Amino acid sequence: MEKFVLALDQGTTSSRAIFFDKAGGIHGTAQLEFKQYYPHDGWVEHDPMEILRSQKLAITAAMEAGEISPAMIDSIGITNQRETTVVWDRSTGKPVYNAIVWQCRRTADICERLIANGLSDYVTEHTGLLIDAYFSATKIKWILDNVEGAREKADRGELLFGTIDTWLIWWLTGGAVHATDYSNASRTMLYDIDKLCWDEKIMKVLGIPMSMMPEAKPSSADFGRVAPGIPGLESLAGIPIRGVAGDQQAALFGQGCFSKGQAKNTYGTGCFLMMNTGETSTRSRNGLVATIAWGYDGKVEYALEGSVFNGGSVIKWLRDGLGLIKSAPEVNILAESVKDSGGVLLVPAFTGLGAPYWDMYARGTMVGITRGTTAAHIARAVLDSIAYQVTDLIGAMEDDVGFRLSELRVDGGASVSNILMQTQADMLGANINRPVVVETTALGAAYLAGLYTGFWKDIEDIEDNRKVERVFTPEIGEPERKRRYAEWQRAVERSRSWAN
Ligand code: ADP
Repeated sequence: MEKFVLALDQGTTSSRAIFFDKAGGIHGTAQLEFKQYYPHDGWVEHDPMEILRSQKLAITAAMEAGEISPAMIDSIGITNQRETTVVWDRSTGKPVYNAIVWQCRRTADICERLIANGLSDYVTEHTGLLIDAYFSATKIKWILDNVEGAREKADRGELLFGTIDTWLIWWLTGGAVHATDYSNASRTMLYDIDKLCWDEKIMKVLGIPMSMMPEAKPSSADFGRVAPGIPGLESLAGIPIRGVAGDQQAALFGQGCFSKGQAKNTYGTGCFLMMNTGETSTRSRNGLVATIAWGYDGKVEYALEGSVFNGGSVIKWLRDGLGLIKSAPEVNILAESVKDSGGVLLVPAFTGLGAPYWDMYARGTMVGITRGTTAAHIARAVLDSIAYQVTDLIGAMEDDVGFRLSELRVDGGASVSNILMQTQADMLGANINRPVVVETTALGAAYLAGLYTGFWKDIEDIEDNRKVERVFTPEIGEPERKRRYAEWQRAVERSRSWAN
């Protein structure tokens, strides 16, 4: 009987389940969206029980779609939206508050106080991160401070914390396993990424008791088995959970970036760039964060990470804000109708600029407009702007690691744009490598699980699975690249400190 690994991809807007075969091919997939709660300006929450329900329904729907019986499932791998925080009662399994989502800014003032109290260097040194409301630490503190009776319960050891991976594992194992993996732990701002333990000093400053914390394990490890009698999943009892990683790290693994210096970029709503930096962690001089890529095969590997706030969302702005296109794919047709942007440059600093500029007062700017400028030139400038921002991040990363990138592996919704990928290759002076299977996040989680069970033998076994769909090679020389990049930097200068 053919067997499959089941990947659970618990994302920010939907829960998905995908079955992978030995060749890394997809058999049966299902996706269920769930509700986003915005109780106040800048606040974002999910209902943890709804996440659980949607994830369970996605599993049964994917089994149906792929005609897969429980006996055909080798193991389960989990990948998840990172940093999102759940606190629940260990005896009832009931959350004491909604999940506070990574995007939620409600703890910005707590972060400002930590920075004012001089904690920045300590946090970066130990966790690899910059103090920010994205990460789980201040979200846990907020729940303990604001939910009636929560702190007393936590102090009595009655509450548990988990990111979404931990929450799913706990429920799937019937409360038997309270665990996370190194990659998810490294996004909490509470985990010492070099010593591999929860950092007592930061926990103490935030008043978070150690008894709440899950056990952090390698990403390819024993996370227990599905318990008997889980409502809706009764037939899956006994199936082992053997792989766990945060979404970006899982994508890095799914892209086969197993060696130091290999990198991937995901072109989604935002862009997420990650580079494998090998078995020692690096600290960035350029505003990137250091994180654990994964624990696998007795080793821990690290990564540098940077993100662009507005990536594919700029294409959506062209559609919904300007009305110049009716659907995202149309941007390519429009942009291809001109040979270049005709000197127009767009800096989509809609919400400020991230690494390497870190200017929250920057705002969107379009320069170089003449009487000859058309919608096509603006469409071209939109795609250019995504490539230029990623070029900025890669430049920062190359400066941190001290070598030039030879290839960038790509995925995400906007990576299907040939014109964007060509521009990226031109601006990097390096090859852009796009795989056939772009479901790299789910694939990475499946690989981590299947490597533990022996479904896949070793890294070489899965490297053979990665099929290249297309490689884009640079078509312009160094002088032209330098000229265009200098022009971009001039445009960025115009966008800075605007909202001040
Ligand atoms: P996320 O996971 O962040 O929701 P996706 O990876 O699904 O994002 O990518 C969605 C983005 O891809 C959208 O912002 C959209 O603008 C862009 N996109 C979708 N199809 C195309 C296309 N054919 N060409 C260029 N961009 C596209």
